[in-house]
Amino acid sequence: MTIKNLFKEKCPQCKEHLTVNRTSLLSSQVVKFCPKGHYEKEYHPALESYIETVQD
Ligand SMILES: [Zn+2]
Repeated sequence: MTIKNLFKEKCPQCKEHLTVNRTSLLSSQVVKFCPKGHYEKEYHPALESYIETVQD
């Protein structure tokens, strides 16, 4: 996965672009979410992976 792709992701349900929110200026943890609340993914630098949450 490249950095460029991180900013082109869309909600799997409504295809809206995900909103990016950094949880803290001191943290590299990033949360990306659907503006309509369908989907959320949170990047955990310690795990080097995303935790995904999909709302039914
Ligand atoms: Zn959505």
